[in-house]
Amino acid sequence: MRATIIHAPGDIRLEDVPDPVIAHPTDAIIRLSATCVCGSDLWNYRGVNEITKPFAIGHEYAGVIEEVGSEVTSLRPGQFVVGSFIASDNTCDICRAGYQSGCEHMRPVRGAQAEYLRVPLADGTLVATPEPPDPDLVPDLLAASDVLGTGWFGATAAEVGPGKTVAVVGDGAVGLLAILAAKELGAERIIAMSRHESRTALARAFGATDVVAERGPDGVAAIKELTGGLGAHSVIEAVGTDESMTQAIDSTRAGGHVGFLGVAHGVEISGDKLFRRLVHLHGGPAPVRRFLPHLIELILDRKINPGKVFDLTLPLSEVAQGYAAMDSRQAVKTLLEP
Ligand SMILES: [Zn+2]
Repeated sequence: MRATIIHAPGDIRLEDVPDPVIAHPTDAIIRLSATCVCGSDLWNYRGVNEITKPFAIGHEYAGVIEEVGSEVTSLRPGQFVVGSFIASDNTCDICRAGYQSGCEHMRPVRGAQAEYLRVPLADGTLVATPEPPDPDLVPDLLAASDVLGTGWFGATAAEVGPGKTVAVVGDGAVGLLAILAAKELGAERIIAMSRHESRTALARAFGATDVVAERGPDGVAAIKELTGGLGAHSVIEAVGTDESMTQAIDSTRAGGHVGFLGVAHGVEISGDKLFRRLVHLHGGPAPVRRFLPHLIELILDRKINPGKVFDLTLPLSEVAQGYAAMDSRQAVKTLLEP
């Protein structure tokens, strides 16, 4: 099969590799209907993460089961499934508490920018649709695999709810879908912190009521001004830098909640700030599996349209162009068709 291999920063190649096979009796092999490039893949592409040897990249996936291992009981070939970037048993104490991304038996899912993918712990990880979805829903279902589920976790971690004012730091796909999540969870006011016109338009389409273009202390001042000097009840951080985390914490009112999602790179929050700001902080790798059944239902009922974050669709053979377009911010998110 063909799979995407990253060799070095900026060096993305589609290569012929052996087809994945069942390695453990709890595995499933799926044929990808669609996959995509993640903002976190760009940390590798840009050389922020060190690449010691070439590896198969990609962790967002939706597709059809080809084969299951002998211990897989709840799934069968032919079913359309969505799963998360972390495989989980969905039965341990941590999973049952809704934190599948911290599962006792967690396994990373990697190599999804390909034609086929092996998914470990298939029974716990994959969620099947009742029947094969209409083709136009595939991008929405793919979005649920990571960016929608992650945005939803951010909104949940930030305790978004009716009557609340929510601010979202970051206008990548996760930030944009955190806006969608905040709207679905009943937020009264949603402030998108974004300075790019096309992204601002999408933010409004997903439910943003206000847009703040300023960053850093100016951005915090703008949020304060919109909230009677107090700050937002709920702030969702979707970047992962020291500046964005500081902006999120400082935009939150005393007693409020920050849900942080961006993979942290160089974040250094002082103990003094943690102590004095009097806010709740919760975040990390999103337990997407917790939300998948609900998100899939909303998508199949056509109540949400998260696939709108894909503003570039390319055949898998053009995966390198897909990375380049996101790296230069010409595209919010690239969908790849195997
Ligand atoms: Zn578990």
